[in-house]
Amino acid sequence: MKKSLKLTVRMLSIPISLLFVLGVVAMFVPSSVSAQSIAFTNVRIVDGNGGEPVERGTIVIDGRKIVAVGPASNVAIPQGARSFDEHGRTALPGLADMHVHLTGGWDGVSADMLGYQRYMNALLYAGVTTVLDTGNVESYILQLRTETAAGRLLGPRIYCVGPLVDGPDAFWPELSRVVASQDQVPGLVRDLAAEKVDLIKLYAGLSDLDVQAISAEAKKHNLRTIIDAHGRNGSIELMREGIAGWAHLPTRKLSDEAIATAKQNHLFFITTLSVFEAFTWRRFQDPSFLDQPLISDTTPPFALAELRKLAHEQADKRPLASLLDAESNVKRLLQAGILIAAGTDAPYPGDFQGEGIHHELELLVESGLTPLEAIMVATKNAAMIMKADTEWGTLEPGKLADILIVDGKPDQNIRETKNVVEVVREGKLLDRNKLKLNPDTDPGYHPVGGMEAPGTE
Ligand SMILES: [Zn+2]
Repeated sequence: MKKSLKLTVRMLSIPISLLFVLGVVAMFVPSSVSAQSIAFTNVRIVDGNGGEPVERGTIVIDGRKIVAVGPASNVAIPQGARSFDEHGRTALPGLADMHVHLTGGWDGVSADMLGYQRYMNALLYAGVTTVLDTGNVESYILQLRTETAAGRLLGPRIYCVGPLVDGPDAFWPELSRVVASQDQVPGLVRDLAAEKVDLIKLYAGLSDLDVQAISAEAKKHNLRTIIDAHGRNGSIELMREGIAGWAHLPTRKLSDEAIATAKQNHLFFITTLSVFEAFTWRRFQDPSFLDQPLISDTTPPFALAELRKLAHEQADKRPLASLLDAESNVKRLLQAGILIAAGTDAPYPGDFQGEGIHHELELLVESGLTPLEAIMVATKNAAMIMKADTEWGTLEPGKLADILIVDGKPDQNIRETKNVVEVVREGKLLDRNKLKLNPDTDPGYHPVGGMEAPGTE
């Protein structure tokens, strides 16, 4: 896609060479400015590439795209643009949660198929502008992706795997396509390719030979496979079966050999520390986190009440070993040059659509990443695993304008990504008030039997 930028020098009476001698920086002015032009001024810019912020910056959006971004002295505001003074707030790329299940429900088990607008609003309210759905009811998620992409439903950009692909005794039967014999593989992959799934998700019940066969067949259709192999996540043998990446970090410490094998095979990892923490119930030792706006403004009150009750019941501390072991891999993978992208596996109790990715950022920092590295993992790296980093994921000219503006300096204190003030989705400044759940008109869907505490079996 062409950049709609041209370099202009404003002071035409001064020879260009003299401008360079004087150290005057040429200004970037969008060549054609539409009525929808928006400018954010006096804003700190964390562009998603991992570098230090620009302190007094300007961002110009025209239509769906960013057309100029940088220090205020380098960026001219087009005439007629709607200009917003951000008073030193921080802009970052819209966040991406690369492991969600868009099923609704608030406990990780129940499904609320008609409640899609509730959780899509919660995602946008929190500044999550992209998600990867990593396993769902096939026809449902394909329709949700189509309707959202067409703009008929308001939501984040949705990538999806369609169903899970599992062995005969599928772990999540309602969400799975089953491979009982390798004869089924070509037909299955042909179907998924016809549905234009973005990746194929393999599940724990498949044999290594199945993983190899499906991955090889997928390649013929220019499709890649990712896997959740439960206790075998991070297994060196599976890394050699043609997969492109892992849907979770392993919950044990990766060996140096495993890291080298992942690097050799160009594999990526999706983090999902949030769900590992959900299984420990650590977050509920102090349930006051449920009061923060990204959760309380978007979650049905009955669900919050049930979570508080569950928190009380689960008060006995569970072992943290698997969470801490998963965390121990994060920095080592990043340092080895392996691509990692943030994901949450929401929804689970304490692992919310929207707020979840902000909490994942905190857990990434707890794992040893700098805040700027964590933000890169939840923005640019997410686009990279989808091979879409020329389209979105950073604040750069020519990229789709998915922007989150927050109060504070999240590059110094990662918790401050939660102070969301403004969200732009492909150039559209969203009315966040309209994204809140109104319990008077929408009590939310109450699943039969109430919530369950995962990890109790
Ligand atoms: Zn999942």
